[in-house]
Amino acid sequence: MTSPDPVSARLRDYDLDDLRSRVLPERGGEVNDSIPQLADADPDLFAIALAASDGRVRRSGQSTTPFSIQSAVKPFLFALALHDTDGDALERVGIEPTGEAFDAIKLESGTGRPPNPMVNAGALLTAALVAGGDVAARNDRILRGLSSFAGRELHVDEEVARDEHALGDRNHALAHLMRAEGTLEVTADDAVEVYARACAVRVDVEALAVMGATLACGGRNPVTGEQVVSASVARDVVAVMATCGVYDGSGRWMRSVGIPAKSSVSGAIVLSVPGVLGAAVMSPPLDRQGTSVRGHIASGLLSRELGVHVFGVGDTVADRDGACPVGDHDDA
Ligand code: GLU
Repeated sequence: MTSPDPVSARLRDYDLDDLRSRVLPERGGEVNDSIPQLADADPDLFAIALAASDGRVRRSGQSTTPFSIQSAVKPFLFALALHDTDGDALERVGIEPTGEAFDAIKLESGTGRPPNPMVNAGALLTAALVAGGDVAARNDRILRGLSSFAGRELHVDEEVARDEHALGDRNHALAHLMRAEGTLEVTADDAVEVYARACAVRVDVEALAVMGATLACGGRNPVTGEQVVSASVARDVVAVMATCGVYDGSGRWMRSVGIPAKSSVSGAIVLSVPGVLGAAVMSPPLDRQGTSVRGHIASGLLSRELGVHVFGVGDTVADRDGACPVGDHDDA
């Protein structure tokens, strides 16, 4: 007789509304104001979705409220670049964590490559490596690829795309630096345009959770059944999310949450538990590393209560009294 998989049993019974209501009172963090659309975000928006490997999606809060994907797009740009270049993208971008901010004006010493695909320099480059002879073709390929990850047709928020392009001075600087180093083959402006448009793709937590689940399921969308990228591409992407996905907070995140993830300035976080589930949490107020404060706390609780910390053998608090570490998620 086979005993039921403990994670799927816990997942089935897990009370997502209860998790949300425990974390909702947390009021820390600041909403990003780099573009007007982000500055105007509702700090009380708080939505969570889980997409299991069997294709079942669970949600809590404003789960269909749209927002721009921002840097949560970076793992998927890396995936598309790996797929479209047949792995060559791994020669063009590093995979080491930087310990620095997402938009640091810095390239890998000695090679002039971006340090990793989860910081802005790397994502500008991976977006430029996606197949397409010109900007329009690359934009189209990215939008179609992201839609396959999400299992539904996604669209670009044109205002966000315009402002990201116009106001992204550090991204222009990074693209010029990569041109000077010979690592970026398209023009700096084309690179910023494609990346800005990718950051402006509109999603909600349900779409983002399915995107995370597609990476968690070896590149196969568990809702539509489409094999979007190969299992080895998905594995490479999730590995780099684990080490670099939360910028200079990646070590702290991996210890306390233990789930490969990518944060973003919109306040969304996409998570992938290999073989088990994808998740997305959205709440705009951010900590100093640009990670959603509620998102971090909720992810830590979810990880412990479902017992899915990737290094947490025998370490679930599913049966313990998991008090919400409000105000001190450093030690969550
Ligand atoms: N669009 C933002 C930028 O390029 C993304 C940064 C983020 O989400 O962390 O600055």
